[in-house]
Amino acid sequence: MPVEVLPEMTIVWPKIVWRMRLLIDIDGVICEYNFPKIVKNFFGVDLSSHTIFAYDLADVLGVAPALINTMFKEQVYGPPNFIDGSLEMLKEWKSKGYEIYIFSNRVKYMGEVNLAKWLIDNKIPFNDIEVTGWGEYDYHIDDSPAKLAATDSKVKLLYTQPWNRRCLDIRKQFTRVNSWSEIKSIVGG
Ligand SMILES: [Mg+2]
Repeated sequence: MPVEVLPEMTIVWPKIVWRMRLLIDIDGVICEYNFPKIVKNFFGVDLSSHTIFAYDLADVLGVAPALINTMFKEQVYGPPNFIDGSLEMLKEWKSKGYEIYIFSNRVKYMGEVNLAKWLIDNKIPFNDIEVTGWGEYDYHIDDSPAKLAATDSKVKLLYTQPWNRRCLDIRKQFTRVNSWSEIKSIVGG
């Protein structure tokens, strides 16, 4: 019986490129949120001996939210005060093809275009600005429990700050992180 020789075949599988998608807040995560300094500049009041106990500054200071909005509008354009290791990590992720989506309340004060300009001017790597947070993400890193809870991200990292220490996280959704080296150990890169 003749032996049938099958022609050599090369199966070309479509190359699936998996990219890590990261949703990242700015203030309180990438940059230090210097509430006392911002408040001192705007209201002339020294808060250094007080603890910022809540995320909403209007509640903390006992002033109208509109006034807080005005304060942030005037103060957000300054240079960033980076939290240790944040910028280096973002650069490393970007170089490895991780996708960085910025999700920040700054959009409210600056608008998307000015926020993008501020990010570029300050050499903060990013792919896009996320306004709603509705996309699918592997990780969401934020200091706002409310923002974290509202997204569909697989892993939600709560960056510890004085104003979120008392969050009860009753649905056990968050993993607390206290530094960018902890973030690196969880996310990798
Ligand atoms: Mg924040």
